[in-house]
Amino acid sequence: MQTVIISGPPGCGKGTQAELIAKYLGFEHISTGDILRREIAALTELGKLAQAKIDDGNFVPDNVACEMINNFIKNNQHIKGMVLDGFPRTKYQCLRFDKLIDLIKIKNNICISIDVDENKLKSRLLSRNVKSNRPDDSSIEIIDHRLRLYVERTRSVTDYYLDKGQCEIVNGNGNIDEVFYNIKTVLDKYLEIY
Ligand code: ADP
Repeated sequence: MQTVIISGPPGCGKGTQAELIAKYLGFEHISTGDILRREIAALTELGKLAQAKIDDGNFVPDNVACEMINNFIKNNQHIKGMVLDGFPRTKYQCLRFDKLIDLIKIKNNICISIDVDENKLKSRLLSRNVKSNRPDDSSIEIIDHRLRLYVERTRSVTDYYLDKGQCEIVNGNGNIDEVFYNIKTVLDKYLEIY
């Protein structure tokens, strides 16, 4: 199995690009944010635990996020690869994921970190709320909080994989096609695609 991790601040286009990458490579797309939102809608135990955290722009506990990925892999052992969108989100999650990689013998793991100017991120997140109704995009205070959490806790994911020589930073300021073109160049270089 091969894995592609998509990292970057809220509003950088992770979800959109992850979907395009999954289609291009024939991989499964797994978004921890989407899973959590589905759990919230279905009023499950996990959903109840996650709702307050997510609505306020905070993270769910690391163990909960890691467990979600463990479960996904357990149930999808024979897939060609996966695109991880929203995980790992902290250095601790990176370390836990590394152990899992050893265990299930993932042969290629690449992190693509999408870089977008802060002003652009804010305007994208505010306009996303009009369309999607996500409570965590609803106010400038929560958006600012999430951008701060990104700097404090998630930027270390990019640094972690840069240190390992497994990360490329991609310019995400362009339109969807332009960003995907940048990403494809990286995928073609690192993965066994054909
Ligand atoms: P965004 O694109 O805005 O980063 P996501 O859909 O990836 O949003 O995630 C939405 C929310 O779900 C996050 O703000 C966080 O509360 C929660 N979440 C998703 N993935 C994780 C994770 N790996 N660890 C902790 N919390 C997570």
